[in-house]
Amino acid sequence: MPRNDLDPKDYTKLFLNGQYVAATNKETYSLKNPKDNTIAVENVPIAGPEDVEAAVKYAEEAFHGPWSRFTAMQRTECFLRLASLLDEELLPILTLDSKTSGIPVSLAPIREKNYIKNCVLYYAGWTDKQKGDYFPADDGFVKLVRHEPLGVCAAINPFNSAVPCFFLKAMPALATGNVMILKPSEKTPLGSLAVAPLFIKAGFPPGVIQVITGAGSTGALLAEHMRIRKLSFTGSVATGKNIQVAAARSNLKRVTLELGGKSPAVIFEDANIENALTWTINGILTRSGQLCVAASRIYVQKSIADQFIVEYTKRMKAAVNDYGDPQDPAVKLGPMVDEAQLERVKQMVDRGRSEAELVVGGDQHGDTGCYMQPTLFLNPKDDAEIYRNEIFGPVSIIKTFETEEEVLKLANDTEFGLVSGVFTRDITRALRMSSGLETGVVGINCVSIQNLQTPFGGKKQSGTGREFGEYALRMYTEPKTVLINMAA
Ligand code: NAD
Repeated sequence: MPRNDLDPKDYTKLFLNGQYVAATNKETYSLKNPKDNTIAVENVPIAGPEDVEAAVKYAEEAFHGPWSRFTAMQRTECFLRLASLLDEELLPILTLDSKTSGIPVSLAPIREKNYIKNCVLYYAGWTDKQKGDYFPADDGFVKLVRHEPLGVCAAINPFNSAVPCFFLKAMPALATGNVMILKPSEKTPLGSLAVAPLFIKAGFPPGVIQVITGAGSTGALLAEHMRIRKLSFTGSVATGKNIQVAAARSNLKRVTLELGGKSPAVIFEDANIENALTWTINGILTRSGQLCVAASRIYVQKSIADQFIVEYTKRMKAAVNDYGDPQDPAVKLGPMVDEAQLERVKQMVDRGRSEAELVVGGDQHGDTGCYMQPTLFLNPKDDAEIYRNEIFGPVSIIKTFETEEEVLKLANDTEFGLVSGVFTRDITRALRMSSGLETGVVGINCVSIQNLQTPFGGKKQSGTGREFGEYALRMYTEPKTVLINMAA
């Protein structure tokens, strides 16, 4: 039986070649629980060059060795065993992770668990479908095209989505025959360390999945490594650019970048207002706004703006009542991940006070832990920092508009392009808007949403490449052409 209360101090080693091992590098750090800033875990290792080298060596051995001999069906069997293990083991792991992430465990039983387990089940069905191509010998050559795995892949993950991100990178990589070294964020390493042994229990050979911990310096070792062939990164735009540069400077490893957002939700006068309110409020408050797809820019048509703003304001004010201990299953909203993130959000909000009208919140909530009040600004200046940049906190901005052309320009006037939402009952307008909005995902009468079967990723500086669905598999394979000379 899995333990219900996993102890953070049991997760202070790297997971290499199928077991927990002490890092060679002796530097460590500690993390606090953001609900009250008490120490949650000490001695989290910072993997150094020798640790990364060991991980790559084990990964190569697994890739060329036992893992390469697994049939597709054997891989699927591992995926399915993993999925059933998650039934019992995942909730304690998400609770453990919450102790440094502050993500409410109330999200775990349905939202997080479904997302993660379905990801495993979904990719379980793809292991035998890398079918390739055949072209006849009309010119004397039979042509075959194979989709081959890339080899040793690495994933570098953000703090806000440690365990879900682990699976959505690992499963397509493994379904296509690759092996993966994952580095969770230095702020939220526990869940990823706890998940790793489940892969061994499920029958994946040692070295197929490994976890190393550490901050940017450890991530940089992965990005620069000459024998890592693919790096899938989720995080901020600034780090994404550094990784792209490091990949180019080293071995031109393939890079997928899932970066930040400043996602618009556009609400037309004919929308179902209650539906629009529910989605936009959830879209900024889930995980206290620490969500890449957060609905942080809201555009409301002038004719319904007063009504919408009154109701939105009421709900943002009432949301403080949902704050509480993220490890209490009855609590909906938790803190920022740490003091640094709280401080960052507070400072942006303070600068915003002179650039927009502050109507809700604006300060820290309470005096214990890292809670930020739900915050709403109206009518920002065009160049206001809070309007232009990702805040990554429970802070939204509402602006009004009159025409469809006007709002399309406003919504697209940004370097971000992750997701957007359109709220209207006019299907023709909805489809027109879905073509015009420059984002990787457009929701119609919904926002801040992803779907496992369909590609997810950003346009513009929100990223390159796609995750989820069949599209993710293309990010972990490369075609190889075989030409057979029929005249020989
Ligand atoms: P971050 O960029 O600060 O850190 C992300 C990861 O990169 C961490 O593991 C960190 O240790 C590592 N890192 C830092 N510097 C590095 C370097 N020079 N080389 C290699 N690795 C390095 O991001 P964060 O604050 O953890 O996460 C928040 C950001 O992530 C937000 O911008 C959010 O929008 C974005 N995000 C995007 C998605 C998406 O799917 N598009 C999903 C979740 C989060």
